Amino acid sequence: MSNILVIAEHHAGSLKKGTLAAVTLAKQLAAKVGGGFDFAVIGGGVDGVAAELKGYGAGSIYVVDGPDFADYLAQPHKRAVVAIAEQSGASYIISTAGTTGKDLMPRVAAAIGAGMVADCVGLADGGEVLFKRPMYAGNVIATVRSKTDKTVVSVRTAEFAVAEATGGDSAVVAVSVDAGETAARFVKFDATESERPELTEADFIVTGGRGLKDGPTFWNMLNPLADSLGAAIGATRAVVDSWEEVPNDMQIGQTGKVVAPKLYIAVAVSGAIQHLAGMKNSKTIVAINKDADAPIFQVADYGLVADAFKVLPELTEKVKAARG
Ligand SMILES: Cc1cc2nc3c(=O)[nH]c(=O)nc-3n(C[C@H](O)[C@H](O)[C@H](O)COP(=O)(O)OP(=O)(O)OC[C@H]3O[C@@H](n4cnc5c(N)ncnc54)[C@H](O)[C@@H]3O)c2cc1C
Repeated sequence: MSNILVIAEHHAGSLKKGTLAAVTLAKQLAAKVGGGFDFAVIGGGVDGVAAELKGYGAGSIYVVDGPDFADYLAQPHKRAVVAIAEQSGASYIISTAGTTGKDLMPRVAAAIGAGMVADCVGLADGGEVLFKRPMYAGNVIATVRSKTDKTVVSVRTAEFAVAEATGGDSAVVAVSVDAGETAARFVKFDATESERPELTEADFIVTGGRGLKDGPTFWNMLNPLADSLGAAIGATRAVVDSWEEVPNDMQIGQTGKVVAPKLYIAVAVSGAIQHLAGMKNSKTIVAINKDADAPIFQVADYGLVADAFKVLPELTEKVKAARG
């Protein structure tokens, strides 16, 4: 019996890694409530994504595939999730707490009258199903109980290990759904052209703060180091709000993206709690700041009290030399 449904996120025909973090929560939940989990894949031409999901231990992979679902629109996708959840008999419906999950999952919860646990960071110990979620920029972890028969959960992927493939096979089940009326119309998707990895998927992130003076200097300072590491580049809110050369989608923090790369290098970032809320779970944190009292040093594994304009070029040369 599978009573947990994991919504698979994908882009341009590839599965997003965050989905596999949601699988880890699904498995933890299954260990408590019994049963197993299924996947829901919704899109246009998603055979490859469904195939990629085989081997992760799902009972079934439910697929809604068609031109009406090719581009994300909240209403058709909500209808597809609701239809799959009904067919699979899911009591728990899980997705990532990314941009799509934030838009989609409250609509699903409202449609089926389910309780919604947003930004889940783990399950509380014990037999009862209690979810942990951050409040006040991560300064408080609340423990919440869902009082409804069905529960919708969005997952902070940075808090969960990525599930490994365990082999085996899962049945692929095609589900036919009427996309229905939509209040919105898809016009176009303007992808940011970048050779760099996506922030939420990157192993290495170099982030710059307001201490980097202005937009052009921000890029001139960070690009060479990010190039030599194959890293994504992030920014603080002060930076994206002040410098038009740095787009909003690069913001990391409470009101930006939540990341947990293997290596996070914060350059001229003070470490305000709203910024820490988005990166403090990074495996190794390196901070460069000229102020020895900057709060970023409280979460840093390695700290360098120095002028970034002096030490960053030197560090970049050393990284380049070390990586050949
Ligand atoms: C509701 C709310 C939500 C928010 N959400 C976010 C969020 O999601 N993400 C976020 O980042 N912020 C967020 N903020 C803003 C946050 O409070 C801080 O204002 C912001 O993070 C500061 O950015 P910063 O570190 O770049 O700038 P500053 O705080 O100005 O720090 C600049 C740092 O650079 C150092 N510096 C200066 N020159 C040099 C040099 N030459 N070499 C080395 N170091 C140098 C300084 O010592 C200083 O520590 C939010 C605020 C609010 C109220």
